[in-house]
Amino acid sequence: MRSASLPEVLRTILYDSRAGFGWDLVTLTLNDPEYEIHRLLDSTSTPRSDFPELMFCDDLNLVDQLFEQGRRPTLGPYRVRAHTSLFPKTEQRIASVAILPLIRDRHLIGSLNLASYNRDKFSVESATDFMDHLSTVLSVCLEAAENRERLRFIGLTDGLTNVNNRRFFDQRLLEELERARRGNVPLGCLFIDLDFFKTVNDEHGHQVGDDVLRHVAQLIREQLRTIDVVARYGGEEFSVLLAQADLELAIEIAERIRKSVEQWEYDFSEIDLEVSVSIGVATTELIEPIDDINEVAHRLVEAADQALYQAKRTGRNRVVSYEASGE
Ligand code: GH3
Ligand code: MG
Ligand code: MG
Repeated sequence: MRSASLPEVLRTILYDSRAGFGWDLVTLTLNDPEYEIHRLLDSTSTPRSDFPELMFCDDLNLVDQLFEQGRRPTLGPYRVRAHTSLFPKTEQRIASVAILPLIRDRHLIGSLNLASYNRDKFSVESATDFMDHLSTVLSVCLEAAENRERLRFIGLTDGLTNVNNRRFFDQRLLEELERARRGNVPLGCLFIDLDFFKTVNDEHGHQVGDDVLRHVAQLIREQLRTIDVVARYGGEEFSVLLAQADLELAIEIAERIRKSVEQWEYDFSEIDLEVSVSIGVATTELIEPIDDINEVAHRLVEAADQALYQAKRTGRNRVVSYEASGE
């Protein structure tokens, strides 16, 4: 069997288990002070907003207080003061709760919070062997899923610039095209290439070149919305996917990126550099509607690349859209 991804494991814990065990509410609290789980989830195609029952906390003491000695599952009546924050969105009156500690390497990492409208569902006396076991199994499953996600994340990230790599881009392009098609919305694509970058290397050395690449990646990122995707497509070329962007919006974002690079004042070891980028813009609106999603992906990338070529040919440091560039 294929190992489950982090979103799949979360879905099983939060939704499938509720129906399976007859619990009324299930929420999950995870301690994530470094925002690592945030980042891992953001690198998947499932937005965090798909899991309103997943809550993050910076202060473990708040979770720790929920458990009596030994950090064992705590079952019993619902107490407003202690439990309200665990179930922020209930419409009915909660009668009993079970709070399961999630533990990794003897450290508390969060809690699984179960609630029932029935007073007798979780009682102090009810056997907690099952709950103990469940708490252990969940901790292990979560850790394994996080580790797998971490490996996938490393395999899909560019080591120099810390943005996604081309492999990630290619996968995500297909997913975003499917999503755009389902929602009947356009998808924008940018190809961004540094101008005369060879000269930077030749005149100032590779380290300065690397530093410029890292900065440009960051500048691009700053101009994007959270739903967009940026990747290092090749050496000094970046690609961007703009969700739900029509041509006008895609050009606007591209222009913002171009300006922010142009205005950036490079200062490193008193080296004065003028850095600029050329950007090719294409959107699905400009591509013939065809069924084969792989073919659409291919044509969209081709179109953005062609527009980039035109931008280079017509003077660099400019944004050219596929439409304007013609065939
Ligand atoms: P153009 O405006 O036409 O794009 O000119 P250019 O000089 O940018 O284009 P060209 O393709 O001739 O050169 C790209 C250069 O980018 C060559 C390569 O050495 C450099 N490059 C690619 N990857 C890296 C990298 O990771 N670090 C550094 N420092 N340079 C890189
Ligand atoms: Mg270049
Ligand atoms: Mg290039």
